[in-house]
Amino acid sequence: MSEQTLSFEAEVARLLDIVANALYSNKEIFLRELISNASDACDRLRYEALTQPALTEGDGDFHVTLERDSRAKTLSVSDNGIGMTRDELIANLGTIARSGTAAFVEGLAQDAEGAGEAKKGKAKAKAKDRPDVTQIGQFGVGFYSAFMVAERVEVFSRRAGEAQGWLWASDGQGSYSVAESDEAPPRGTRIVLHLKKDAKDFLEPARLRDIVRTYSDHIAIPIRLAPDKEDEAVETLNQASALWTRSKSEITDEQYREFYHHVGHGFDEPWLRLHFKAEGVLEYTGLLYIPSTKPFDLFHPDRKHRVKLYVKRVFITDDCKGLIPPYLRFLTGVVDSEDLPLNISREVLQDNPLVRKIKNAVVKRVLTELTKKADKAPEDFESFWTQFGPVLKEGLYEDPDQKDKILPLCRFHSTAGEGLTSLADYVGRMKDWQDVIYTITGDDLAALKRSPQLEGYRARGIEVLLLTDPVDEFWMPAIGSFQEKPFQSVTRGAADLDKLDEKSESKDEDKDEAAEETDAKVNALVSFVRLTLKDAVKDVRSTSRLTESAVCLVADVGDLDIHLERMLKQHNQLDEQVKRILEVNPKHPLIRRLSERIGEEGAGGELEEVAWVLLDQARILEGEPLPDPAAYAKRVSALLEKGLG
Ligand code: ADP
Ligand code: MG
Repeated sequence: MSEQTLSFEAEVARLLDIVANALYSNKEIFLRELISNASDACDRLRYEALTQPALTEGDGDFHVTLERDSRAKTLSVSDNGIGMTRDELIANLGTIARSGTAAFVEGLAQDAEGAGEAKKGKAKAKAKDRPDVTQIGQFGVGFYSAFMVAERVEVFSRRAGEAQGWLWASDGQGSYSVAESDEAPPRGTRIVLHLKKDAKDFLEPARLRDIVRTYSDHIAIPIRLAPDKEDEAVETLNQASALWTRSKSEITDEQYREFYHHVGHGFDEPWLRLHFKAEGVLEYTGLLYIPSTKPFDLFHPDRKHRVKLYVKRVFITDDCKGLIPPYLRFLTGVVDSEDLPLNISREVLQDNPLVRKIKNAVVKRVLTELTKKADKAPEDFESFWTQFGPVLKEGLYEDPDQKDKILPLCRFHSTAGEGLTSLADYVGRMKDWQDVIYTITGDDLAALKRSPQLEGYRARGIEVLLLTDPVDEFWMPAIGSFQEKPFQSVTRGAADLDKLDEKSESKDEDKDEAAEETDAKVNALVSFVRLTLKDAVKDVRSTSRLTESAVCLVADVGDLDIHLERMLKQHNQLDEQVKRILEVNPKHPLIRRLSERIGEEGAGGELEEVAWVLLDQARILEGEPLPDPAAYAKRVSALLEKGLG
């Protein structure tokens, strides 16, 4: 096949444009990315050779080689790994496979702009949560970092077991070429970087040595530096033994950190590191990390954990679903088993009983470690919780075996103060006559705090948990209670505050006749509103839930809670409209005035209008759209006009 020129996918072209032109101070990370890919390629071939030994015949000794040519100003990175076919070159080095990369490219673009501004003296502080180029590996586009240092990149590759070799080449300007090549290595890939003028320092052995030790020492295969002149000897730059097999005392924090960057493509500091060796019936080593910040794809539906499974140091898969449960999908790292058969196929791994045993043991270790953190370093634990609490909570209904371990770890906002609270602490603060845990769910903490449904509880000093994660709607019904105290939503069912008042004996002296008369009038108003609104609501009733607002909407006991209904609708999982109960506050001046007017001559027509306005007000407070905003505006205008006249 003759040479063909192809265009990069639009997003790749944009990424290359930024990467090639922005001034970065940490360009050396390109080498980390290329070595990481070379090592992955060797891992993949080693795995394929388990079932097809012929693939590595004659060359079973994997390595990465760096070669520099000072005269041609090229640096090359070669591996004898799996290599790529023509189609693979096009798919892997011309398009972007992973979702979420757009956000990364956007962040880089803004940064590049920011750098320009800075030069003009209009420096703006870099947004802290904006991705930077060192994170490129995390977004599955690490290869393209080569264009930070090279004006032209050539990828010579030959897939293991194939006769034909290929050359992929590009100057990063929108297109690349692919052609047959006789210069490809016998097996694997050689990437030749034609260094830019300002990147010549990557030809210096000292610089290369330094970069490899900093970023790639943990790579399990040798990284060799080939001599430039004939009189020098090949030098191995890294320790070349799998990091997790070394003893803890021999591993520095930097090495642990770089391994974390490599294995999980994480760029942040790990929040927690767990390095353990299990011996006995089950023999395995684990080196696991919890990141300190949320990976960008934590809530993507196809997000998987990032724990790689090895068997006796041979990489098997990074997609063993049975190894880590989804509610721990923030974990990254390695589990290396001594007991699993090496020739196990990836497909049957998920249901393998040994894998299940390892999973159970790993889950236990992680939860135990989290419990320790929560007890000994509560503030530090909260920083974990704010990042990953919503994920961990999925375990409450997904893994009934662990719920008793997970529930005490859960932290919540509440009406009691600004900070987070555990359920045990909430229960400790409960009034002695209180027998349920009050909750309210919504999307947004600030809005929740303003909910009218909280008024009566707040006035009585009763604490309500403020729940803002979608998952809260699912685990609460599944768990039901904590320490035998059921969870109860304050936006569903009748308010039990009168009952509480009796229990707390803080109730005013017995009702006098005047009060009973008022009650009767409020009842009449309630009946009137009910008659007027008919099918628009499920019921109308007087409530002790409110102190400041005149009205609110609540769900009936057996119905979907209001927030859950809204969530299901947003996800198109519900089309019917659940009818709500309109509650009125008998102590509110407006309701009192209206009650007085009930039965007055000629009041009926106007009160009907008011009844509709009250319902719409309750909808607005609830954040629900009005079915007929024009009618609402018209009514309010008419009533205002009347009031002013
Ligand atoms: P990632 O490594 O996260 O997948 P990269 O941009 O670094 O993203 O690499 C893209 C893809 O190109 C890799 O997934 C791999 O399939 C392929 N690739 C890159 N370098 C090599 C190599 N040296 N040998 C074989 N395949 C490679
Ligand atoms: Mg990579």
